[in-house]
Amino acid sequence: MGFTSDILHSDRRGGIEHGSIHKPVHTAVTYTYEDAHELAAVFQGKQQGYTYGRQVNPTVTALQDKVSLMEDGLSTVAFSTGMAAIGTMLFSLLRAGDHFISSSFLFGNTNSLFNSFEVHGIDVSFVDATSADEVRAAVVKNTRLVFVETIANPRTQVAELVAIGELCKELDLVYVVDNTMTTPYLFRPKSVGASLVVNSLTKYIGGHANALGGAITETGLYDWSTFPHLYDNYKKGDVSGWAIAQIKKKGLRDFGASLGAEAAHHISVGSDTLALRMEQACRNAINLANFLADHPAVKKIYYPGLPDHPQHELARKLFKHPGALFSVELVDEMDCFDFLNNLDLVVCTSNLGDTRSLGIPVAHSIYYEMGAERRASMGIDDSLVRFSIGIEDTDDLLADFEQALSA
Ligand SMILES: *Cc1c(COP(=O)(O)O)cnc(C)c1O
Repeated sequence: MGFTSDILHSDRRGGIEHGSIHKPVHTAVTYTYEDAHELAAVFQGKQQGYTYGRQVNPTVTALQDKVSLMEDGLSTVAFSTGMAAIGTMLFSLLRAGDHFISSSFLFGNTNSLFNSFEVHGIDVSFVDATSADEVRAAVVKNTRLVFVETIANPRTQVAELVAIGELCKELDLVYVVDNTMTTPYLFRPKSVGASLVVNSLTKYIGGHANALGGAITETGLYDWSTFPHLYDNYKKGDVSGWAIAQIKKKGLRDFGASLGAEAAHHISVGSDTLALRMEQACRNAINLANFLADHPAVKKIYYPGLPDHPQHELARKLFKHPGALFSVELVDEMDCFDFLNNLDLVVCTSNLGDTRSLGIPVAHSIYYEMGAERRASMGIDDSLVRFSIGIEDTDDLLADFEQALSA
């Protein structure tokens, strides 16, 4: 079945209550059983069921199953935010004395989080992940894991995803891919050998900027039997489920960054139209990028859909479309604040993956805290404006950019 047909019916097929076509919003925190033996069996993992809402909830389970379907994964754990998903996953799998490699082109808060891991004894090397050779050069004896994003934000670098996957397989490293920017509709990290897939559900999957959420999906490609940090308690059943069990228990249960049922419901309803929204948002982004690339007020535009983008060919090969986010540097005479203020339809704010088009001066906002030096290493110019393009009518967006640049 096609992407949309498959996910539209996943709640219904997952066992419904009262013939409801949406999984109901279960607000109960705790769950009871007729026979106390049953409760004990659920706690001991001998029987499927629910106990306490911090670990899981039926509405959240339905969303997790839907994300697994989207990613062609084995199982998914949902979290209260994308950051909670990334932080909890790494906390569950790594220990002091470990080393991991990360792309240096990273979502700002992920960059900040990884620096905190360093303080706690887990070393991280930031490398230019547009080259698998750079990743290979950073591998040391205690390297456990490689973390990359598909299309980095704001400069839209595309990691050398296939070659890094091959490298991880060769060296037995866990390959983690943050698929937030591409979504499982444009790209499935499993196809390049990723073992764990990250999605911020807040962004395109939820899609309407009305709920926060995050997810980790197990693809089943990594042989966890050789991974040294798994507790015996979680080494039960099929090996492919061991790590996600530990992420769920040691991570989600003990840290408690759980997704609420209402948020799960919002995200699930939003995700029904992921493919339709991505089609329109990417069509808009391609049209705008072509328009801006030729505009005399634009010094540079970064978008993988343009032929002069350094990873254009790779993006074309791997992704259904080149995404719906681009960044622009204006010519020196133009002020990026004026440009943003002149835009009428485009909303000046952070966030990405909304139905509405959003713009932000990144060096002065989301990448301000990291300082000028790190910004320079990520190629973030002071005048850079990032746009997350939404699903408005294409002509209206083109007209808005045109009037804002000529004002
Ligand atoms: C937004 C984002 C995150 C974090 O997600 P939140 O839901 O905001 O916590 C992680 N990675 C990428 C690539 C993102 O864009």
